Amino acid sequence: MASWFQRLKTGLARSTTRLVDSIGAALGRKRVDAATLDDIEEALIGADLGPSVAARLVAKLKARKWEGDVEVDTVKQALADDIAAILAPVAKPFTLTPAAKPHVTVVVGVNGSGKTTTIGKLAERLARERYKVVIAAGDTFRAAAVAQLEIWAQRAGVECIKGADGSDPAALAYQALERAQTIGADSLLIDTAGRLHNKAGLMAELQKLIRVIRKRDSAAPHRILLVLDATTGQNAIQQVEIFKALVDIDGLILTKLDGSARGGVLVAIAEKFSLPVVAIGVGETAEDLAAFDPQQFADALLGLPPRA
Ligand code: GDP
Ligand code: MG
Repeated sequence: MASWFQRLKTGLARSTTRLVDSIGAALGRKRVDAATLDDIEEALIGADLGPSVAARLVAKLKARKWEGDVEVDTVKQALADDIAAILAPVAKPFTLTPAAKPHVTVVVGVNGSGKTTTIGKLAERLARERYKVVIAAGDTFRAAAVAQLEIWAQRAGVECIKGADGSDPAALAYQALERAQTIGADSLLIDTAGRLHNKAGLMAELQKLIRVIRKRDSAAPHRILLVLDATTGQNAIQQVEIFKALVDIDGLILTKLDGSARGGVLVAIAEKFSLPVVAIGVGETAEDLAAFDPQQFADALLGLPPRA
């Protein structure tokens, strides 16, 4: 099986091509002058890193005061290091707090962002690490979502709590927490619906869910993770803003970095919100979710080889 770095690099290929081609073109004359820096800034914005990050990165390149011939690899290396430095403060892996039993995680995000798949991947990983996991199929409005989660649960060998179609997600979450406490589970992962066309309704639903599980455990939920689809580019930034206004998001997971030419948006999001990025997804299997490593991500984004 390919190493994670290789999977990440392959996944990011579309984002990388776009960025690296433009940097290559900017350095056509091997000179890092004002025009080159302008072109690089444009390339970074075009790769969805956002104007603010692009300006910061270009200022750092300028400060290096390169003279004479500069190889494109030198510039890519420098950019990768500077991007990794921006990302470093937000890289915080998803971990369970042993004192929280179960550790309760609520997963939110718009429809199709990858919530259910991500919960399945997390459940599989936690089960492999010998944690006892319970999943709550809180997207009670789509039967398909429940069925999809049950398949993941079966594969991971964990319990999945579901309700009748259209049942109250808060009641289901409460029931799932009760069950998780009874069997001494380490982790409870709660799936939710993401019907964003009705923001007031969604907010009421999520806030009720949180209120109700607090009746059983006043410290829960221990994490509220927002799942973002990287293929949506700048739209993902808007989604962070919307969900931050609904509930206390304390972690992000970016999915579909493999299908996206806009993986650079992760850097824009990291800089803008300073929210922990707990994991990233580069495919549809459990092996395609991993903790977020800033240097690896930056190197892969710039098409650089793995570091020793
Ligand atoms: P939800 O509506 O937020 O629960 O989204 P789902 O988990 O149902 O995911 C929507 C689609 O995206 C499914 O077909 C998933 O297999 C797919 N998906 C989720 N994560 C990834 C990822 O990291 N990479 C790719 N390529 N597809 C993904
Ligand atoms: Mg779902």
